Amino acid sequence: MNNQTKTIYNSVKNLPNVGEKRLEALAELEIFTIYDLLRHFPFRYEDLTVKDITEVEDKEKIVLIGEVVASPVVSYYAPKKNRLSFRIVSDKVVIPITFFNQHFLKNQINTGETIRVFGRWDSQKRSLQGIKLLSSDIEKKDYEPVYHTTKRIKQKTLVKLIDSALKDYYSLIPEIMPDFLVTKFKLLSNARSIQIIHFPNSEKESLIARRSLIFQEFFVYQLKMQEWKEKNKRVNHGIKKEYDLPKIKEFLSTLPFELTGAQKRVINEIAKDLKLPQQMYRLLQGDVGSGKTVVAATALFSTWTAGYQSAFMAPTEILAEQHMKNLSELFQSNDLTIELLTGSTKAKDRKRILTDLKTGKIDVLIGTHALIQKDVEYHSLGLVITDEQHRFGVNQRKVLREKGVHPDVLFMTATPIPRTLAISAFGDMDISTLDEMPSGRKPVKTYWLKNSQVEQVDTFTKKQLKNNSQVYVINPLIDESENMDLQNAVETYESYRNKFGKEYEIGLLHGKLPSKDKEEIMRAFKQNKIQILVSTTVIEVGVDVPNATLMIINDADRFGLAQLHQLRGRVGRGKKESTCILLANPKTENGKIRMQIMTETNDGFLLSEKDLELRGQGDIFGKQQSGVPQFKIGDLVEDFNILQVAREEAIKLIRSKEFQQEDSFVELKKHSQISMDDSIVLD
Ligand code: ADP
Ligand code: MG
Repeated sequence: MNNQTKTIYNSVKNLPNVGEKRLEALAELEIFTIYDLLRHFPFRYEDLTVKDITEVEDKEKIVLIGEVVASPVVSYYAPKKNRLSFRIVSDKVVIPITFFNQHFLKNQINTGETIRVFGRWDSQKRSLQGIKLLSSDIEKKDYEPVYHTTKRIKQKTLVKLIDSALKDYYSLIPEIMPDFLVTKFKLLSNARSIQIIHFPNSEKESLIARRSLIFQEFFVYQLKMQEWKEKNKRVNHGIKKEYDLPKIKEFLSTLPFELTGAQKRVINEIAKDLKLPQQMYRLLQGDVGSGKTVVAATALFSTWTAGYQSAFMAPTEILAEQHMKNLSELFQSNDLTIELLTGSTKAKDRKRILTDLKTGKIDVLIGTHALIQKDVEYHSLGLVITDEQHRFGVNQRKVLREKGVHPDVLFMTATPIPRTLAISAFGDMDISTLDEMPSGRKPVKTYWLKNSQVEQVDTFTKKQLKNNSQVYVINPLIDESENMDLQNAVETYESYRNKFGKEYEIGLLHGKLPSKDKEEIMRAFKQNKIQILVSTTVIEVGVDVPNATLMIINDADRFGLAQLHQLRGRVGRGKKESTCILLANPKTENGKIRMQIMTETNDGFLLSEKDLELRGQGDIFGKQQSGVPQFKIGDLVEDFNILQVAREEAIKLIRSKEFQQEDSFVELKKHSQISMDDSIVLD
């Protein structure tokens, strides 16, 4: 390749040893260009300093150097399972070493040679379970990067590729940050930070590089958002809706309850947006039970009085059905036409619905992803509402937004996000918050019991069932030990069948079931055909089963506060008093605190703040997509201070005269440049 075309954005196939296969493997890691590769940062480091075995703890990962004194023996102890054993002498001590399922190392371990082994120390047996054989010549570093990998590409390969990319392309790494900020915050150059983050000489060095990279990441992100926000303010490309206020007031007067102060406030915030010529882009967050549905209904109703159609999208069929039922009731005394469209809608009905939608006969269409399929055409789409927004991918939301001529968009979520975090992370959205519960709501009584008290729980469960109430039993399923967790759920299900199966129907729900089956089980529970539902955490966030009054959460300390609160919100939705029992023997102080806090408050926002304190961003929002933007290196919680500073600087810069000049901050603009359609920063 000649120098003119050599850039950091060249495909990784320009690197040595990258053929078609490897190209594909890299693509799985979303690595396409050299720059992608260089920005595939290690997620942690392995400390490979050699330690003195008299000072290491049991199960600690350590590096040993020693001479091989007994050559390796491979034994096969089960089908496809083997063990490689040998001994070394390190500091005059003989240490047995065992590698599992790495029999191929045999040829690299020869008597009389000195080797370096990384492994887990067993202080009782005074032996090492080998994890990796470190070749003694290369990788002499004491601080080694660990990358996310896939089955098709190994750590070693990544290290080599990154190393060669750095050698070849170092001088081409763009410097993005404005000089004055580099100076002001003592940042390292982009190139230097990238080089160090991959191959630091010490922990301290890696932290310095991290800080610079995080600052840059947050800064560019904030700049994008602020830019989008400014642009959106300037351009009037939305629909101005002249709604009928007296009619809306009349609608509100038919509600069987008085709106809470928060509902009134939020309805006003949305109404204001509807009337403005800009496109609404608003997040409505409210704890479970805070009454989001009525707020959504009012927005749909207002849009209808202005002569526009609305779409209301839910993540599952069962939730869509539930909304259909609730909204039909709310709208019954009006001649507003509402329809349901899901994957299960019969072809004949679907055809009619699509025609009616196109001709404008349908005013509100409720449904699942079916709402955004290609052939779904609207007559005059003015408002899109999505429930539990985080369950939708960027593309789906994008398609939905493109269905109309810039319809207003309202995302609803029951995951309370601490205010400080929300402002910084969702800076491009306006946020409405329902921070008040309807009066008369009975808080869910929460108890924390030890595993040994399970009999008490059974007695209580029996009482609830006798009362014709239904029960949820939740088991954790957290990805790493997925199979074991699944087994736990199955065992719990069996034990409940033994205990209650004669008199009651028991159901089992988990993520491995096809979604049709999941919905079927959920529906059966809703219809009280199942009385006890044993489930992993897949139970739907918004599904309403008012007759369920007891929630038992096993190993509750394995959940974060936010998630426990979400789960607890499945009960307490009817008139009967509800109870949540946390069964846990927490091993850590933190776990005990979490259990305690749960018994003390029902306030989701308070809990999310506490969760922030106790755990990090990653845990708070769960492993699933939560709607919070994913950063490559920054952590919204841990690095919150950097985020705030980056935000302030981004706002200042964007408003400065210099920034308006066309040829200023060229590299920065290139990296923060966005079109309207990529502006969705969630996900
Ligand atoms: P969520 O925010 O979890 O979606 P919902 O909209 O489903 O909450 O409301 C929960 C329950 O509270 C519903 O039965 C609803 O009718 C009722 N509700 C909503 N607003 C009020 C209110 N202001 N006063 C009394 N009950 C209300
Ligand atoms: Mg809801």
